[in-house]
Amino acid sequence: MATIELDQVDKYYGSYHALRNISFDIADGEFVVLVGPSGCGKSTLLRTLAGLEEITGGTIKLAGHRVDNIAAKDRDVAMVFQNYALYPHMTVRENMAFALKLRGENLSDRNAKVDKAAEMLRLTPYLDRYPKALSGGQRQRVAMGRAMVRSPKAFFFDEPLSNLDAALRVDMRSEIKALHQRLGATSVYVTHDQIEAMTMADRIVVLRSGKVEQIGAPLELYDRP
Ligand code: ADP
Ligand code: ADP
Repeated sequence: MATIELDQVDKYYGSYHALRNISFDIADGEFVVLVGPSGCGKSTLLRTLAGLEEITGGTIKLAGHRVDNIAAKDRDVAMVFQNYALYPHMTVRENMAFALKLRGENLSDRNAKVDKAAEMLRLTPYLDRYPKALSGGQRQRVAMGRAMVRSPKAFFFDEPLSNLDAALRVDMRSEIKALHQRLGATSVYVTHDQIEAMTMADRIVVLRSGKVEQIGAPLELYDRP
């Protein structure tokens, strides 16, 4: 899929220094989890990686190309949010196909991609339903399906499971991880849940006050005596 390279990334909101000189690389196929206290800059960092927000200094490269030079329509990244952000007036199939339709893909291509994603996500029986007739876990799968059909170079997850109950959250963790592996995706995942970070991450990046405080494999970070 894609490598992501951050080199001396700085981000200011006015005079507030939200990201401070952040440099690290994410390997092709890696699952990186961003953790840290509320307000430390996790969502800001995720949005800048996705090219949704400009940085003030430094560079971010996705698959070797600066994200600020990639046109929005060619920006093959996908965000999955906690609030699903599904269109209530569209069926599951229409929700999943919407980005492809905007991109001008024809109906049969759209349907083939949606059918394939729906099968992987066990959503085939629900394709004609509206979001309000789905459970929380099913809605979260639709949000992932909508991201998947675009064959993105990278997935960006912003606390995608925080609205789900505890048992479902545990199931969805392994589903997201399995999907990441099956797609050979590069994923960046924001959470404030330590256990989620420990169980899902190849590497964890700990942010504090906009700076990288620690970075390493889960056991390197938390298993110290
Ligand atoms: P986290 O996701 O770790 O909770 P955020 O990235 O949302 O943190 O926010 C980091 C800091 O930047 C916070 O102090 C927040 O108030 C500030 N911030 C985030 N977005 C904006 C914005 N659009 N304008 C001004 N300040 C912002
Ligand atoms: P080049 O890669 O073409 O040599 P530079 O790395 O010198 O470009 O960056 C030129 C300017 O663009 C710098 O001020 C840098 O902060 C800014 N910049 C780089 N990457 C981004 C990005 N992803 N978003 C916003 N600005 C960026």
